[in-house]
Amino acid sequence: MAEQFRYIVIGGGMMGAAAARHLSEQADGVALIGPAEPPDYQAHQGVFASHYDEARITRQFDADPLWASFAARSIERYRDIETRSGIRFYTEAGCLFAGPEPRSASDYLHRAAQVAQVSGLLVEKFEAPQLVSRFPQFSFPPHLFGYYEHVEAGHINPRALVRAQKAIAAEQGGRRINAVVTAVREEGGHVRVETANGLVCQAERVLIAAGAFSNFHNLLPRPLDLRAAPRTVVFFELDEERQARFGSMPSTIVFTEREEDHVYILPPVRYPDGNVYLKLGGDIEAGGFATLDEVRTWFRSSGDPDEARRLVEVALQLMPGLSGCRTTSAPCVATFTPTGRPYAGFQPSSQVAVLTGGNFVAAKSSDELGRLGALLMLNGGLGEEDFGSGMLPLFR
Ligand SMILES: Cc1cc2nc3c(=O)[nH]c(=O)nc-3n(C[C@H](O)[C@H](O)[C@H](O)COP(=O)(O)OP(=O)(O)OC[C@H]3O[C@@H](n4cnc5c(N)ncnc54)[C@H](O)[C@@H]3O)c2cc1C
Repeated sequence: MAEQFRYIVIGGGMMGAAAARHLSEQADGVALIGPAEPPDYQAHQGVFASHYDEARITRQFDADPLWASFAARSIERYRDIETRSGIRFYTEAGCLFAGPEPRSASDYLHRAAQVAQVSGLLVEKFEAPQLVSRFPQFSFPPHLFGYYEHVEAGHINPRALVRAQKAIAAEQGGRRINAVVTAVREEGGHVRVETANGLVCQAERVLIAAGAFSNFHNLLPRPLDLRAAPRTVVFFELDEERQARFGSMPSTIVFTEREEDHVYILPPVRYPDGNVYLKLGGDIEAGGFATLDEVRTWFRSSGDPDEARRLVEVALQLMPGLSGCRTTSAPCVATFTPTGRPYAGFQPSSQVAVLTGGNFVAAKSSDELGRLGALLMLNGGLGEEDFGSGMLPLFR
């Protein structure tokens, strides 16, 4: 006998947990199906998530007005989510972009400055000499200037945000099912969902928010045009002296002349092992995964050792004060769409919608993306005030 729900959200990650919260605020009969973070990655045979970490940059300064808007709408709700869940996840540490003067109108910083101006975003511009004196933690090349968003920006703890969303959803009556979905099928006016542990559920509508795993496990009749790509991060373990030295730095994104040297840097954050780490990652193109096994094998690794070495080198040039720190590395997976925008829509089905395609930037905006996922379930589509037509999923 199938368990009956009105709405099922598949994937309890950043977008799915947010969708379940928004949906359960407005409707009964909501279930969120997805597994918890595995305690032992090496032994884990199931799916993973891209939010298993303690820090993600949050900012509104963005070259794409759509992403800027999603971030703004999410950030203004952070404190309310913290209050309602009793779980802290947001640190308003500010966010700095440093880069060379734009050479053309298509340059990211030029476009982001324009979007900021139109939306009235408070961003301070630092010319090269002031940049160096204002942010003494860094040893920036002399030709870099900076845009600094000092309020309503900083970093969030993605694991804690997901916990907070799930806690509020549960309080609102949402049901949490700890399982991997292995089949989704439309039949006779409802959607049938099966899990690996033998559970069968039915719902009027289903939202698939399975991140990098959206194209696996028979969730969709056709694969999405979606690329799951490997990313490597390095962690610098900070002693007390360095915690003090780097403690007041903002979240930072550095564009240099060479594309391969672009990096993003998270200020010191305490991790579950009790140590404080400063994290750094890059955005080097490294192909994509073709099979479920490839993605899982990557999640069990320590990332790409060559990329980790390169990131350490770049970090030491930018922040020589990190010299001598113990470093470790970790893998993650970013999910890209050809449009650079998330997918949030039905098509071809009118009962099964998708919400995915974080494009490496969706953690900060996950609450708004979850709200859009909830609207899809409740209304059967998104209006243009929510950029609906810009996010229709594309299939292969
Ligand atoms: C290294 C790295 C750094 C990043 N830094 C930033 C940053 O600084 N700022 C920022 O805003 N964004 C950042 N991002 C992006 C951000 O983390 C992702 O966009 C975000 O996690 C995507 O959320 P999601 O819900 O789509 O996927 P996830 O958070 O991965 O959630 C997907 C969920 O689906 C579940 N699932 C999968 N398959 C199934 C199935 N068959 N059945 C049930 N459940 C299933 C998984 O268990 C998982 O919980 C970064 C990403 C990476 C990889």
